Amino acid sequence: MSLVHGEGDTAPSLNDARRIVIKIGSALLVDAQRAALRTEWLDSLCSDIASLKQSGCDVIVVSSGAIALARHQMSKKSTRLRLEEKQALASIGQISLAQGWQQSFAAYGLTCGQLLLTQDDTEDRERHLNARATIETLLSFDCVPIINENDAVATNEIRFGDNDRLAARVAQMTASDTLILFSDINGLYTADPRKEPDARHIPVVDRVTEDIMALGGEPPPGYSSGGMRTKLLAARIANRSGTHMVIASGEHTSPVTRLLEGGLSTWFRAELDAGSARKRWIGSILSTKGTLTIDTGAEHALSKGASLLPAGVTQVSGTFQRGEAVSIYNTIGQIIARGLTNYSAHEIVKILGCQSSAAEQLLGYCGPDVLIHRDNLTLVSWI
Ligand code: GLU
Repeated sequence: MSLVHGEGDTAPSLNDARRIVIKIGSALLVDAQRAALRTEWLDSLCSDIASLKQSGCDVIVVSSGAIALARHQMSKKSTRLRLEEKQALASIGQISLAQGWQQSFAAYGLTCGQLLLTQDDTEDRERHLNARATIETLLSFDCVPIINENDAVATNEIRFGDNDRLAARVAQMTASDTLILFSDINGLYTADPRKEPDARHIPVVDRVTEDIMALGGEPPPGYSSGGMRTKLLAARIANRSGTHMVIASGEHTSPVTRLLEGGLSTWFRAELDAGSARKRWIGSILSTKGTLTIDTGAEHALSKGASLLPAGVTQVSGTFQRGEAVSIYNTIGQIIARGLTNYSAHEIVKILGCQSSAAEQLLGYCGPDVLIHRDNLTLVSWI
């Protein structure tokens, strides 16, 4: 049985990436001896990110480190922490963590914005759209979104518990083409290289099969999250959403530059491209909560890849909230698309047929210009 899938094939390349999620593990960011951030390392990463942005890439950071930082600061080094202790430590550490990122980015003229998410924010459709819109807006401001799990309020039931899967969900939500997991290991091996000297490094994984999953071993004990297993679970989420993932060592300074220069890593190949994966996901939502009927002008615009504007809608039916999936019909009753709506049924009744500029007055607040953004719309020809 060969576990070394794809050996010899060309690996995906960071040079082709346009939108990258970079996940940083706690061990890389926190110096346990000094109970402080490793600022020199952080500066070198921010310099790398500034270069990526200069070359036209969008960069989103998922940063761990809040709990680890506060754990050292508060001298809570016992391996087992109760949930409420973790929550309290996260609330302490998150302040210093965000400040560290802000200071390091400022040196490169970059501004960052913080989002603390729970699992619901990435899975519930309405909250997913909200989080996504904030990230997109930060990127349009040329800022770097810095994301962590909202550990201070997340209970066990709604926690990811590890930022590997959170990062994969963020990549999925933002249709990012590449996810980098910087860790203390430079990729996946045929066995644990710390225990077995004959373990072979795997450069490319074409598909995260059960055999590959078996290489992840058991989750690490105690408070520690992550480990290879959650990285492989993250690869599954990312690859199915059209995102290539790479595990690389972040132990040295300038980790992105090292990766670009060919540093040892394992790439997990995306199953299809990110845009198509999102379209497929939307197309596969069968439980639509309502319908919109649109005029022939809007039908023509949609077929050319445009977003749906309130002006093109002639009728609305059903009860649905912002973020829910609706089916879109043409004037002769044929279904032509499905999409995630920016407005509830109740709101659409007020603005249908109107110019976007009039919507603010009719609704009493200023919402998105488009009723369904083209990225959140799948034509039936796709389904
Ligand atoms: N969200 C946790 C923190 O900031 C880290 C989770 C992880 O290490 O994956 O401390």
